[in-house]
Amino acid sequence: MKIQNTMTGNKENFQPIHNNRINLFVCGPTVYDDSHIGHARTYIAFDVVARYLKYKGFSVFYLQNITDVDDKIIQRAAETGVSPRSLARKFEQRYLEDMRALGITNVNYYARATENIPEIISQIERLSELGFAYETETGVYFDESRFGDFGKLSHQGAEALEKHRIEPDSTKRNPGDFSLWKKRQDGEEVTWDSPWGKGRPGWHIEDTAITENYFGAQYDIHGGAMDLIFPHHEAEIAQMEAASGKKPLVRYWMHTGFLNVMNEKMAKSLGNFTTIRDMLREYEADAFRFFVLLAHYRSPIDFSEKALEQARKSLERIRQAAKIIEEQLEKAPESSAPEQMDPAVALAKAKFLESMDNDFNTPYALKAVFDLVREVNRRINEKTISQTGLQDASEQLREFGEILGLSFYEVGKRPAEKTDAIADNLIELLIETRQKLREKKEWQLADEIRAKLSELDIVIEDAYEGVGKYTTKGSTIG
Ligand code: AMP
Repeated sequence: MKIQNTMTGNKENFQPIHNNRINLFVCGPTVYDDSHIGHARTYIAFDVVARYLKYKGFSVFYLQNITDVDDKIIQRAAETGVSPRSLARKFEQRYLEDMRALGITNVNYYARATENIPEIISQIERLSELGFAYETETGVYFDESRFGDFGKLSHQGAEALEKHRIEPDSTKRNPGDFSLWKKRQDGEEVTWDSPWGKGRPGWHIEDTAITENYFGAQYDIHGGAMDLIFPHHEAEIAQMEAASGKKPLVRYWMHTGFLNVMNEKMAKSLGNFTTIRDMLREYEADAFRFFVLLAHYRSPIDFSEKALEQARKSLERIRQAAKIIEEQLEKAPESSAPEQMDPAVALAKAKFLESMDNDFNTPYALKAVFDLVREVNRRINEKTISQTGLQDASEQLREFGEILGLSFYEVGKRPAEKTDAIADNLIELLIETRQKLREKKEWQLADEIRAKLSELDIVIEDAYEGVGKYTTKGSTIG
């Protein structure tokens, strides 16, 4: 299996650090607003990466951070008159709902920045002791000039880096130095005690504190979209490699291309975005996933309703063909003797796996799926396909679907928005009712509700704010 590594610029043979175990980290969202379909593109890509690695027999631990302390959160909270903490919790909840609605189910753990403050402080202390960080009246900064490898991921020399003035601040030694700890400013509520007084973490340090906490100083795969290569991922490398003295922080750096609108990155700041929720009112989640997977994860995607509609129709064509295969299978007599896999199915499978092994090339993998359904349908029309052939094709289509997170057996499925909204409201109602029961110390009934919800894969954790939060089984929030 080969993975294109941003660090080397080459497609490299994939070799995990610990035999069969893979530690995968992908930068999670800053939770100050609803996520848009550009974010969804990146998270669908890594959902497929995790699915395929599992299919290959690896044991994958997929970790994502949640940036729940940040300038944008503080600013939006002030604008809307709520506390930064409740704003962050609200949009974290909505983000998790969006991910569920998109069938993104492979993240094992979501780690909040605010729940890793001791780890963040410890990493900054080590960097200070080793002479990589210094304190000023505004905060603690990483001294970029002390880290000789700065720029190695984005392939930029010192001159190019000099042009990027990261976080202008007159107290810094070098313009490129980035903040590790921001000292409290007048009126700021969101702060923690630290050796440098009250304050809060800089953006980059949360990721290396979290990955060090869960994976150690080195791990297998780090992902995100291309915009994060510089300065964010460059800063992560500097922090962790300086603190641990171990290189490389990450074996394989994977970066997704942008989802663009008329050749411009979809972004909140540009106002050219469609939220995941709005998109799912019009389109089924699988149609969007199919649209995303028609492009290689590193290529840009130009989003338009027309292109999405075309993808939806292509998916429906595969589904119609799958339906015909199922109908024929029901009519066909049972075959007894096990035979070898139908050659057309075996060829499609080989091409599919070869494409996925080649840096997760989903457009080529989907071509193998198209070729298979076309061939099988031709043979159905010509009445030259055996029962085993139909059986093999049916099973193979299901397997392809599982790997890609798509269902090829849902002909004409409508957007799930309405039923999902009702289900979400009912779950919220149950959680609130249970909370009231707990307040009245009706523990038995409250526990029964929790147990019943758990049977439906809805896990309630009793949070400190008094209101239980819920997540689906398999993914946990820090
Ligand atoms: P943010 O919450 O803005 O930090 O973004 C979360 C993740 O989505 C990061 O990996 C971003 O690089 C990625 N992302 C943001 N915008 C886009 C886009 N238009 N296309 C693809 N990925 C994006």
